[in-house]
Amino acid sequence: MEKEQMKIVIIGHIDHGKSTLIGRLLFETNSIPQSTVDEVKKICEELGKEMEFSYLLDSLEEEREQNITIDTTQIFFNTDKRDYVIIDAPGHVEFIKNMVTGASQAEAAILIVDVNEGVKEQTKRHAYIIKMLGIKQIIVVVNKMDSVDFDSDKFNKIKNDVSRFLNELDIEPRFIIPISALRGSNVAKRYDNVGWYNGLSLLEALGTLDAKGVLSHKSLRFPIQDVYKIKGETLPVGKVEAGTLKQGDEVIFLPSNKKSKIKSIEVWNRNKIEAEAGESIGITLDKPLFIKRGDIMCSGSLPKITDKFNATIFWMSNQPVMVNEKLILKCVTQEIKCILEKIKNKINTSTLEVIGKNCEELCKTEVGDVIIKTEKPIVMGSFNDLECLGRFVLIKDDDTVAGGVVPR
Ligand code: GDP
Repeated sequence: MEKEQMKIVIIGHIDHGKSTLIGRLLFETNSIPQSTVDEVKKICEELGKEMEFSYLLDSLEEEREQNITIDTTQIFFNTDKRDYVIIDAPGHVEFIKNMVTGASQAEAAILIVDVNEGVKEQTKRHAYIIKMLGIKQIIVVVNKMDSVDFDSDKFNKIKNDVSRFLNELDIEPRFIIPISALRGSNVAKRYDNVGWYNGLSLLEALGTLDAKGVLSHKSLRFPIQDVYKIKGETLPVGKVEAGTLKQGDEVIFLPSNKKSKIKSIEVWNRNKIEAEAGESIGITLDKPLFIKRGDIMCSGSLPKITDKFNATIFWMSNQPVMVNEKLILKCVTQEIKCILEKIKNKINTSTLEVIGKNCEELCKTEVGDVIIKTEKPIVMGSFNDLECLGRFVLIKDDDTVAGGVVPR
């Protein structure tokens, strides 16, 4: 059986130890070739330095640059229980962009805070984005505990500050763990040299979190990517985003509400009886229907059809957006003209302050609670129910200018 996979993001202010922690996690889980570890050790020795675990990450990045086929934003490590993918991005803006445009759909986040510095601007921005995307499973690691001799008072102070800040965002961290990414204390193995912390190591804590619910157990969502005509027969194709389907199933196409039965499921000219979430397939129907790209074939409980909905968007273009400006909305294979009918609130993502109500425009890196009006009805869901129908991007002049989610 395939091993469970879980996507995580590591967030935090610059220099608080993100790269070192990633290097450490890779090292402790034997996910890096020994030759690379030896090489980095040698370089550090030559420089008269201790082993810098963040160099492991750098060496991995160099390898990746030479091999452009590897996705630069994903780093893998394995444990007995499951495989993890760390979603990483080179810079702050890229990180946020990745998060909101769906390049990364993390199920959990590790928030790293330097014990000497506490909560800083990027800590806040990143936490805000995590909250906006509805990522509920958060582990806080208070890093560089070695630099304060694992002082429990210092840890508790930061713990209280972080908790207070996260509570303002309505986030309840699952664990708050004192670690040293540099020394490896409480990262994979517990650090038993201090009497005051009896909790889990980071890796143990990660193991207790839930991976994404099994998508094939949900109601069918099959966004139509394209429709082929083969030997007089119509063959809609696409990727099953959720649920399962089999020959003879009754299905409904949204937003048109046309109903039909599945006659056959085709994969590379081969017939299949059943298909499930994650598979790319073609289907034939028992009666001719006019189906087009962007239709969503569904069964079970049905998503909403709407031409007006609340959303939270993150604006990332240099050019501000004005109320009523024409944009294109893309959500799975649906693509439709829209406007921001109202910008109800706009929020500064570093201070978390609401900086305006009923605004005329939204500027770069600002988040807006908005009402979106589409030219025609589209199929939308809440992000928390099913990510694929609750997440969208906005396009202007062929550029992705914003990412957004539909809250519950
Ligand atoms: P990033 O910007 O968050 O990726 O931070 P880095 O991983 O590059 O770390 C920034 C600096 O903090 C580097 O000089 C690291 O050696 C140092 N550092 C990271 N983790 C620890 C730690 O656990 N203890 C100590 N003393 N220094 C650390």
